[in-house]
Amino acid sequence: MERRTKIIATIGPASDSESELRKIIDAGMDVARLGLAHGTLDEAIERFKRIRQVAADLSKRVGILVDLPGPKIRSAAFSDEGSELVKDSEISIVPGSRGSDEKVIEVEYENVLNDLLPGDVIPFGDGQVVVRVENVSASGATGIVTSGGRLHGRPGIRIPSERLSLPTPTDSDLRKLDAFVELGVDMVAVSYVRSAHDVRRVGTEPHPRGPLVVAKIETRAAVENLKGIIEASAGIMVARGDLGTEFDLADLPHLQKKIIAECIAGGLPVITATQMLDSMIQNSSPTRAEASDVANAVFDGTSAVMLSGETAIGEYPVESVETMSRIAQRADEAFDYERWAERVAQLRQDPEDESSSNGSEGITDAMTLATWRAANELDLAALLCISGSGFTVRSMARFRPNVPILGMTMDDRTAQQLTLSWGVTPYTITSELGYETRIENAINVAIAEGHVKSNDLIGVLAGITGDSPATDVLRIMRVP
Ligand code: PEP
Repeated sequence: MERRTKIIATIGPASDSESELRKIIDAGMDVARLGLAHGTLDEAIERFKRIRQVAADLSKRVGILVDLPGPKIRSAAFSDEGSELVKDSEISIVPGSRGSDEKVIEVEYENVLNDLLPGDVIPFGDGQVVVRVENVSASGATGIVTSGGRLHGRPGIRIPSERLSLPTPTDSDLRKLDAFVELGVDMVAVSYVRSAHDVRRVGTEPHPRGPLVVAKIETRAAVENLKGIIEASAGIMVARGDLGTEFDLADLPHLQKKIIAECIAGGLPVITATQMLDSMIQNSSPTRAEASDVANAVFDGTSAVMLSGETAIGEYPVESVETMSRIAQRADEAFDYERWAERVAQLRQDPEDESSSNGSEGITDAMTLATWRAANELDLAALLCISGSGFTVRSMARFRPNVPILGMTMDDRTAQQLTLSWGVTPYTITSELGYETRIENAINVAIAEGHVKSNDLIGVLAGITGDSPATDVLRIMRVP
């Protein structure tokens, strides 16, 4: 069986040369992520163009996701050798940008004292140092180091998201995004969203004309407003790095399962991110716990698993992708496909929403569930999902049919966006009008690409009623 769970690799200095990109794409990267928090916009644009070029040279379809940094607040710089903050020592926090040391941390955000309260637990960096705030006055805050460590550079500081007065996406995010929209970027991830309103502030055209908008769930407010955020987004990322600093770490595995389940019910692709193979930043093989983490994310139902530092700055970027691909493929083989569809059908039953059952969502639910059943009972060779926006393909993918899903679309942008969807191999077909011609085109592509051959039994799924977004036709047929 081919791997069905998608792999996202963050591209950075360790992986952005033409030769590394070739190897990483060959190793199985489906989507390249460009984090805009580090480096310049010009560097990110160069990387974007190089990824497009290398993918075209290799004739491989690779999606590109830009990740907007959001309102990340940073400390003023520590000295080159860093400063050791000792457990139980007292420190001051003040606004400023001259520099920080083990006694005074200056924070490059003028409102910092308005957004802090006594009792706040503030992680610096990725939580290397944690400070509990004791007092806040107009001139500064004092705190006690509850977890000590060394801080270098300009570590990020995390203010509880519900109090942070900075907007997300920031103006700087939106300017950067504009440049990538011009270039035709496929997907955009939005950091620190707190509500559906933050997602809507992205303001790009709806996909597929605009990028697919992925909300990163990494704040307490986002977990509380998850339903609305899912409705306003086209994809979700379980951003475990920051989420793990807003909640108790013991809550994190449960939040991961809950967020994934809600995305599946909503038919959205969901990405599990951060520290999946973290030790591979330095080592050529992962820990046992990391191997289990990747497999368990697959069993939870994630659509994609993501590599961050492993491929961006690590010593083994290609090995990280190969290893993740191997673990995910093995987990895909062991996945409980039989029980899955029943679970999705149950997740879809929203007792509060009586209207949805006869609307386009209800029709699509019934059609895709019926298609899943047909695929299993009839031993279909493939499912050809014909779709303009990708809606039919994503709706089908959430049921995890145990046969290849071929996403056949008239729109190249949709095909690029489907690189994120579980189990989907996207193709473009010519856009002649007429449902019959499209089916013919789709079958010809499936034959030419070696997925099906004459006399194979296949399923063809589509939405053909022009004024409705519903998936309303399933045809079971033999390949002529
Ligand atoms: C995360 O916090 O897990 C995450 C993916 O965000 P970033 O890597 O941008 O901090």
